[in-house]
Amino acid sequence: MNYEAVVGLEIHIQAKTKSKMFSSVSADYFGKAPNSCVDPVSLGLPGALPVPNKKAIEHCLRLSLALNCQINQETKFDRKNYFYPDLPKGYQISQYDQPIGFDGFLPVESKAGGARKIRIRRVHMEEDTGKSIHEDTRTLLDFNKAGVPLIEVVTEPDFLNSEEIDFFAKRLRQIVRYLGVSDADMEKGQMRYELNISLRQKGEEGYPPYKVEVKNIGSISLLQKVLAYEFKRQSELLAKGETPVQETRGTRDMTGKTYSQRVKEEADDYRYFPEPDIPPLHFTDEYIAELKASLPALPEEVKQDLIKAGVANETAETIIGSIPKVKFIETYRDQPKVLPEIAKLLVGELTVLKQNSKRNWGDLITNPKLLVKLIELKQAGQINSNTQKALLTMLVEAKFSTLGELQSYIEAKNLLIKSDSNELTALATEIIAADPTAKERYAKNPKIVMFFVGQLMKATKGSANPQVAAELVEKILQSL
Ligand code: MN
Repeated sequence: MNYEAVVGLEIHIQAKTKSKMFSSVSADYFGKAPNSCVDPVSLGLPGALPVPNKKAIEHCLRLSLALNCQINQETKFDRKNYFYPDLPKGYQISQYDQPIGFDGFLPVESKAGGARKIRIRRVHMEEDTGKSIHEDTRTLLDFNKAGVPLIEVVTEPDFLNSEEIDFFAKRLRQIVRYLGVSDADMEKGQMRYELNISLRQKGEEGYPPYKVEVKNIGSISLLQKVLAYEFKRQSELLAKGETPVQETRGTRDMTGKTYSQRVKEEADDYRYFPEPDIPPLHFTDEYIAELKASLPALPEEVKQDLIKAGVANETAETIIGSIPKVKFIETYRDQPKVLPEIAKLLVGELTVLKQNSKRNWGDLITNPKLLVKLIELKQAGQINSNTQKALLTMLVEAKFSTLGELQSYIEAKNLLIKSDSNELTALATEIIAADPTAKERYAKNPKIVMFFVGQLMKATKGSANPQVAAELVEKILQSL
């Protein structure tokens, strides 16, 4: 039987703030000694009162706006009750029926589906839990992470294929970084994905009668592996006539294999109720408008600008994946003639040179005018690509810092392409004359022209214009 997946994503993002979500203790917990970033609020001690973090809420609002969401201008926090050892209060402060953002969308691209909008159901604010560290016979608890601000983004189950999921996961991570909402460092657990997946027969409408959730997926590549694993596991069950169990599953390694964790709770099980210690929030029109105006150019906008400037789609997509690369290309925005070529180098040759030099994008090219000059020389047919490559390497190694230095080097090393046919004709005549079989061989096989062009290139150390060289070699051979 032919199945298709119905997939939604939930993403938890740690918002970048100095202090925790509901208290003033440092949120910069990563790598710190266990239980050194704690206070009565994050430990849930009796009588401790939460005070919401304004910056975290601002991050949540800005992300909601960037995801084209409506904003609940009247909103509140709710308690989500459940017991877990690393949840010291016995409940998580979250948002239930009035999420900060709702009804948004994010466009995704895939070869199979073209460009489509994935609907965003909600964007809400909550707090992170602590961490359980399991040793042989005991479990240790570290509450440093407890109370770190978390933004949760929930999509509708709109994804049609794994490419769209991959695109969405990456685009969301870029948006979060462009906004400065989070560094979204996956290795530090700052962005975690949760996959909701169920299968239906191809062509069937409506949602399947069950849903499997896979929690705490820490990387985009693992997300893809989990997707493939679950697709196979569920289709095998369905093929046998069974319905997969509605449950929460987890991963234990990077293979994508999932394990049953618990049968899924319903919202009722959490006994949500309004958080009595935090008054409702109200966002004014002016405040929302101000935040909206403060949004930077987002990845899609930057990409479209690059495409308009003549950069290829794939190249533009690679560039916007890295903020330092975007900043690099910004320097050349007022150079429309060379910009597409610089974009190509940026994702190719320059990326390799940067890796070798161990330098940052910001100081890779000390004088942008020199890079522009290299492209112009190549475009004018004055240097060939080998010369350009060699000079580019020298540029990164900071062998020249001024246009004058570059030009005198080119002159001294005689790197300009020779299109001067008098000089080339003399050389070519000499080369052909030295080969007594030239006439006979040319009569048998006119492609022998390329052999002599090769000789000529060698004689000029590659500085002859290949087109000019081919034309005049042919002329000489014909006249023999
Ligand atoms: Mn959550």
